[in-house]
Amino acid sequence: MKLPLKNIGSFIEQYTTDIISEQQMTSWLKIVYEEGLTHEETDQVVKAMLDSGETFDFSYLGKFVADKHSTGGIGDKVSLVVGPLMAAVGLIIPMIAGRSLGHTGGTLDKLQSIPGYRDNLSMGEFKNTVETVGIVMSGQTKEVCPADQKMYDLRDKTGTVDSIPLICGSIMSKKLAEGIQGLVMDVKVGNGAFMKTLEEATILGSELKRIGKQFGVHVKIVHSDMSQPLGFEAGLWNEVTEALASLRGEGPDDLKQVALELGSSLLLQSGNAGSVDEAMEIQTQLISNGKAMEKFVEMVAAQGGDISVIENPKNYPAPAFEAEVNSNQDGFVSSMEMVGVGNLVNKLTIRRKNNKRLLEPTGGIRFLRKIGDDVSNGKSLAVCFGSNEDEVIGTAEELKSLIKISEERVDPPPLFY
Ligand code: URA
Repeated sequence: MKLPLKNIGSFIEQYTTDIISEQQMTSWLKIVYEEGLTHEETDQVVKAMLDSGETFDFSYLGKFVADKHSTGGIGDKVSLVVGPLMAAVGLIIPMIAGRSLGHTGGTLDKLQSIPGYRDNLSMGEFKNTVETVGIVMSGQTKEVCPADQKMYDLRDKTGTVDSIPLICGSIMSKKLAEGIQGLVMDVKVGNGAFMKTLEEATILGSELKRIGKQFGVHVKIVHSDMSQPLGFEAGLWNEVTEALASLRGEGPDDLKQVALELGSSLLLQSGNAGSVDEAMEIQTQLISNGKAMEKFVEMVAAQGGDISVIENPKNYPAPAFEAEVNSNQDGFVSSMEMVGVGNLVNKLTIRRKNNKRLLEPTGGIRFLRKIGDDVSNGKSLAVCFGSNEDEVIGTAEELKSLIKISEERVDPPPLFY
C-alpha cells in the first residue's frame, strides 16, 4: 500500500518498535522499490530513520565535523587514507563504517584484520575516541538509526535493497546521525559498482546532495571508476598495508589520486584550503611529514589495535597459500568482470560457520596487471592468497576467466567521471 506523506514517519517508527509487522513493512518496501518516492517522501524516510535513535553532536569541539563515504567497490581502501589525513589537518571525523555488502568490501572488515582492533564501540567510547583522537572508525551502534538496521535486514531478505530512495535514506540517516557538517561521497561507476552507469550514479549523487542540503549538510559528490580494482590489493590485511603505503607516500597512483581528490573536497568545504592546489599541497605535506600516518596509528591504538604491525607490517603473518593466475596469451588486459572478482575476494576473506561470520585476515588478491597493461603468455596477471589451499587454487582458476585479454591495445578507463 502507498502511504500518505504524513504517515511515513509514524509507519517507520512503529515498525522499529514492533507495532507494524514485517509483512506490512515488506509490502510498503515493495511499492517503494517498484514506484520510487517523491523528494518529500524520501525526506520523511531520512527523518524517521534519524529520529529512531541517538545522534552525535560534536559542535562543542569547535572544529569542522565531516565524513567520507563510498558506495562501495573492490580494493577501495580510500577511507583508511582520507580519514587520518583529514584528522591530521584538524577536522573531526566520526566515521560509522560498514562491513562488506554484496560483492563489495567493507572498511570495518579491513580494520578487523589488525589484531585487537575494536569496531563495536559503545556510544560513549565512540564519543571519547573522537574527543581524544579527532577520528574514529567503528560500526553502527544499536542506538544509532535502529530503524535502518531493522529495515536493511528486511530489504536484504525481500530483494528491495536496490532502490534509490531507500539507499539514500539508509546512507544519509547514518551520516546525519554522526552530527557532520560536511560530507564527500564517492558514488562509484562501473561494472563493479552498484551503479553501473554514470547516468544511474548521477541520479543517486544528486539525490544524496539534495538530501544533504535539506538537512543542512554540505555534500560533495565525486564519481570514481570501479571497472577494475582500486590499487593493486583487494582483501583485508593486504588492503591495510596498501593504505599504509599510501599514508607513507608510497602507494599506487590511482589510490593516491582518489584519496587526495576526496580529501580536497573536505578541505575546501571546511575552509582549510582556498583552492584545490592548496588542498593538494596540505595533504602532500601531511603525508611527507608523517602526520597522517601518526593519526592512523593513534586511532588504531585508541581502538585497541596492535600498532606494532602497523609500524612494522612485515611482522604480520604471511598467507599460508598462494596461487598465481597466468595469462594464456599475449595481448592487453581489456576488462574485468568485477562483480565476480568481488565475490572471489569475499570468498577468500569471509567464512560463514554456524551462522557466524568469520574473517580470514590474510586472504585476498593482488592484481599485477590492470586494464590497458600488456601481458605475455605464461606471465602472471594476479596472485590469490589465503588459508585454504584448495580454495586459493580454485579461486585463481575462476579469476582467470574474469580477466579478459584482447590482442588490440586498450586504453585504461578514466579514474574520474
Ligand atoms: N549502504 C547503506 O548503508 N545502505 C544502503 O542501503 C546501501 C548502501
